[in-house]
Amino acid sequence: MEMVEIDPKLFVTCRLCLDHLGVYQIVPNVQRQIKFCYDIEVDPFDGLPQLICKTCECILTKYTDIKTTYIDKQKTLREKLERNVVSTISRKKIISY
Ligand SMILES: [Zn+2]
Repeated sequence: MEMVEIDPKLFVTCRLCLDHLGVYQIVPNVQRQIKFCYDIEVDPFDGLPQLICKTCECILTKYTDIKTTYIDKQKTLREKLERNVVSTISRKKIISY
Protein backbone atom coordinates (compact mmCIF):
# COMPACT_ATOMS: atom_id res chain seq x y z
CA MET A 1 0.00 0.00 0.00
CA GLU A 2 1.17 3.47 -0.86
CA MET A 3 1.89 5.77 2.07
CA VAL A 4 0.34 9.18 1.98
CA GLU A 5 1.69 11.74 4.38
CA ILE A 6 -0.94 14.01 5.86
CA ASP A 7 -0.92 17.00 8.13
CA PRO A 8 -2.51 15.85 11.41
CA LYS A 9 -3.78 19.38 12.01
CA LEU A 10 -5.89 19.11 8.87
CA PHE A 11 -8.21 16.60 10.55
CA VAL A 12 -9.21 18.91 13.35
CA THR A 13 -9.80 21.79 10.96
CA CYS A 14 -13.26 22.83 9.81
CA ARG A 15 -14.04 21.15 6.49
CA LEU A 16 -15.76 24.22 5.09
CA CYS A 17 -13.78 27.33 6.07
CA LEU A 18 -10.45 25.65 6.91
CA ASP A 19 -9.87 28.55 9.28
CA HIS A 20 -11.28 27.32 12.58
CA LEU A 21 -11.14 24.18 14.62
CA GLY A 22 -13.92 21.78 13.79
CA VAL A 23 -16.20 20.94 16.70
CA TYR A 24 -19.14 19.19 15.05
CA GLN A 25 -18.84 15.83 13.37
CA ILE A 26 -20.20 15.78 9.81
CA VAL A 27 -22.93 13.21 10.42
CA PRO A 28 -25.09 12.06 7.45
CA ASN A 29 -27.65 14.80 8.10
CA VAL A 30 -24.98 17.52 8.03
CA GLN A 31 -23.45 15.85 4.98
CA ARG A 32 -26.81 16.18 3.18
CA GLN A 33 -27.12 19.84 4.22
CA ILE A 34 -23.66 20.64 2.85
CA LYS A 35 -24.54 18.98 -0.45
CA PHE A 36 -27.93 20.72 -0.56
CA CYS A 37 -26.56 24.19 0.19
CA TYR A 38 -23.13 24.29 -1.41
CA ASP A 39 -22.98 21.26 -3.69
CA ILE A 40 -19.91 20.02 -1.83
CA GLU A 41 -19.53 16.27 -1.47
CA VAL A 42 -18.29 15.06 1.90
CA ASP A 43 -17.49 11.40 2.02
CA PRO A 44 -16.62 9.89 5.41
CA PHE A 45 -13.71 8.10 3.73
CA ASP A 46 -12.43 10.86 1.46
CA GLY A 47 -9.41 11.42 3.70
CA LEU A 48 -10.41 15.03 4.32
CA PRO A 49 -11.60 16.77 7.50
CA GLN A 50 -14.87 15.42 8.88
CA LEU A 51 -15.62 18.29 11.22
CA ILE A 52 -17.14 21.73 10.92
CA CYS A 53 -16.75 24.73 13.21
CA LYS A 54 -19.47 26.54 15.16
CA THR A 55 -19.56 29.46 12.72
CA CYS A 56 -20.00 27.23 9.69
CA GLU A 57 -22.59 25.10 11.49
CA CYS A 58 -24.56 28.26 12.23
CA ILE A 59 -24.32 29.48 8.63
CA LEU A 60 -25.21 26.03 7.29
CA THR A 61 -28.32 25.78 9.47
CA LYS A 62 -29.44 29.27 8.49
CA TYR A 63 -28.72 28.68 4.80
CA THR A 64 -30.58 25.36 4.84
CA ASP A 65 -33.62 27.12 6.31
CA ILE A 66 -33.44 29.98 3.82
CA LYS A 67 -32.97 27.71 0.82
CA THR A 68 -35.80 25.42 1.92
CA THR A 69 -38.09 28.44 2.41
CA TYR A 70 -37.21 29.93 -0.98
CA ILE A 71 -37.77 26.62 -2.75
CA ASP A 72 -41.12 26.17 -0.99
CA LYS A 73 -42.20 29.68 -1.93
CA GLN A 74 -41.27 29.13 -5.56
CA LYS A 75 -43.35 25.96 -5.53
CA THR A 76 -46.31 27.84 -4.07
CA LEU A 77 -45.87 30.56 -6.67
CA ARG A 78 -45.83 28.07 -9.54
CA GLU A 79 -48.85 26.25 -8.19
CA LYS A 80 -50.68 29.56 -7.97
CA LEU A 81 -49.73 30.40 -11.54
CA GLU A 82 -50.88 26.99 -12.74
CA ARG A 83 -54.21 27.42 -10.97
CA ASN A 84 -54.60 30.86 -12.51
CA VAL A 85 -53.81 29.56 -15.98
CA VAL A 86 -56.28 26.72 -15.54
CA SER A 87 -58.99 29.01 -14.26
CA THR A 88 -58.34 31.50 -17.08
CA ILE A 89 -58.63 28.74 -19.66
CA SER A 90 -61.84 27.41 -18.19
CA ARG A 91 -63.26 30.93 -18.01
CA LYS A 92 -62.39 31.50 -21.65
CA LYS A 93 -64.14 28.28 -22.57
CA ILE A 94 -67.24 29.38 -20.75
CA ILE A 95 -67.20 32.71 -22.58
CA SER A 96 -66.73 31.13 -26.00
CA TYR A 97 -69.66 28.76 -25.54
ZN1 LIG B 1 -15.77 26.67 9.56
